[in-house]
Amino acid sequence: MSDGYSSGLQEVGDGLYAYLQPDGSWGWSNAGLVADEEQTLLIDTLFDLDLTEQMLSAMRHAVPAASRIDTLVNTHANGDHCYGNQLVRDARIVASERTATEMAELPATAMAALVREAPKMGEVGEFFLRCFGAFDFDGIEMVFPDQKFSGELTLRVGSREVRLIEVGPAHTRGDTMALLAAERVLFSGDILFNGAHPIAWAGPVSNWIAACERILAMELDVIVPGHGPLADQGSVRELKAYFEYLYDQARARLAKGMTSLEAARSISVDRWADWGDRERLAVTVATIYSELWRERRGDPAQRSANAVPALGGIAMVALHDRSLDRPA
Ligand SMILES: [Zn+2]
Repeated sequence: MSDGYSSGLQEVGDGLYAYLQPDGSWGWSNAGLVADEEQTLLIDTLFDLDLTEQMLSAMRHAVPAASRIDTLVNTHANGDHCYGNQLVRDARIVASERTATEMAELPATAMAALVREAPKMGEVGEFFLRCFGAFDFDGIEMVFPDQKFSGELTLRVGSREVRLIEVGPAHTRGDTMALLAAERVLFSGDILFNGAHPIAWAGPVSNWIAACERILAMELDVIVPGHGPLADQGSVRELKAYFEYLYDQARARLAKGMTSLEAARSISVDRWADWGDRERLAVTVATIYSELWRERRGDPAQRSANAVPALGGIAMVALHDRSLDRPA
């Protein structure tokens, strides 16, 4: 279903819209709109204020009721899904409890400071600017959820039912998906990166595989992924196979005494050669390694991923190992 991957608003069902931002790489996220009987629900804002305003304007143009957003759902705490919240601050903002907590730890001011410091940060800074230099983090005020939930929460938009399903920790600590079961449409947030390597900031990846299984058990016609073109269950099956493969490969390399970075460099991902952002393997394999270590020690504690050193790790791989470099 990768045909028609163009930027902007696309109807994916009666009163259901996806807002897509090709090419879906770092920061270029998707969002969603549900409208019925003059009520509206927005799924995620975008990485900066200009992009979010462009999106809201496109929504108002196509759907007059969207001149007022009643409810905003943030699928997770990464800035490319919540930094535009202040533009819909009158809406009720809903997120999982864990996402709300994590959002406070990832303020836009930190991204703005990193962009300013990047030129002094050598190769890590170069990599950071290559990923995030196109966005404007100045003047962003963090606006946090006012309604939090754990597990599941069902919302109504006119006559429609939107089921919020928390499947994190996986990509982040509190990942949430929005299911319109009657319409057979799922807004997956970053549980699905379509056409790119996923990144497991939080893990465990075993939870992410469980999330894939939950999606595969749903009756769906369309999945609006957090990044990339519209998808279907085929993309989820492929993602699950990818994680299972990474587990097997990482386990074998850990047994040989390889570090996670050595493992990330040596694992062949040729089967997914057309996926972008291969450098994310550095973080995802490190997350899998930490799970395997915990399994050895019988320690159930959750690893707390810190995005900045993790990005440094990516940069190392991306810049020093041509086999993992980003396509130009
Ligand atoms: Zn994202």
